[in-house]
Amino acid sequence: MKHCSVLGAGTMGNGIAHVFATSGWNVSLFDISAPALERALATISKNLDRQVAKGLLTAEDASAAVARISTHTELAPAVAGSALVVEAATENVDIKLKLFTQLDELCAPETILASNTSSIAIGRIAAATKRPDKVIGMHFMNPVPVMKLVEIIRGYKTSDATAAAVVAMSTELGKIPVECNDFPGFVANRILMPMINEAIETLQTGVGSVEAIDSIMKLGMAHPMGPLQLADFIGLDVCLSILRVLHEGLGQPKYAPNPLLVAMVTAGDLGVKSGRGFYDYANGTKDAPVAPNFL
Ligand code: NAD
Repeated sequence: MKHCSVLGAGTMGNGIAHVFATSGWNVSLFDISAPALERALATISKNLDRQVAKGLLTAEDASAAVARISTHTELAPAVAGSALVVEAATENVDIKLKLFTQLDELCAPETILASNTSSIAIGRIAAATKRPDKVIGMHFMNPVPVMKLVEIIRGYKTSDATAAAVVAMSTELGKIPVECNDFPGFVANRILMPMINEAIETLQTGVGSVEAIDSIMKLGMAHPMGPLQLADFIGLDVCLSILRVLHEGLGQPKYAPNPLLVAMVTAGDLGVKSGRGFYDYANGTKDAPVAPNFL
């Protein structure tokens, strides 16, 4: 039986555990927070029920998937016997470096160690281990059960065999893996974040309102969501930290985060998760746009 471990049971970790379990893998889901594990199992069950209601999965397959997931608050038993570990813990370099050092000691030599990081260099994470050839980026998109892409990031020392194995595993999950190299923001965020930053600049300089900017990009470019709504969905703090990685790593002023984004994050307006960003979410759904009070 195929066995993998998913570290971190938040937004991404629960989705990653979901897709491996529905593809027949036994999944050990690890988090330092027991309540996070409980919330993850509840979210997975709810999302599986939704797939059953839509006729995408049978009720038997959904219960079998849940039964394949075990939860852990201790790392050693969570990674025992795993062919693949996918790390999806908080986007904090110290947390990730510590986890990969521990993984290198605890996992069998053949185990592949993947990170779902949005912005931390895979080479930096790999350097915390004695197996940099077996360390790779496996960047799933949110919401994981729905989105097809897995951005596969090859670090400087990632071997061809590791990349081929992870591409094959992603394909078996029903995903579409696309490979790229390890430079700041990889491909997805290297292109997406400057677009979001430019949308914020367009708002901040009074070129258009929140609704106008999002409508123009939705209707004109066939984007399913405008860039400001998308920023709220991703989290404005997450957007800011990825822009800082681009700015620092590529050294060009064009990546400097717009001051309005910095001001909103400083004020605690983080988008959907805080109830307010470019739109209001106080009622649990996207409501009216919030006009910055100096515009
Ligand atoms: P999240 O805040 O929803 O969840 C993070 C989880 O990690 C929490 O449950 C936390 O308790 C746990 N955690 C913290 N320290 C830990 C440790 N030492 N060991 C195990 N678990 C630990 O975060 P998220 O949005 O799921 O992001 C997780 C990773 O995925 C990040 O690297 C992020 O950059 C990346 N990512 C996020 C998105 C997104 O849209 N949210 C998309 C792609 C990639």
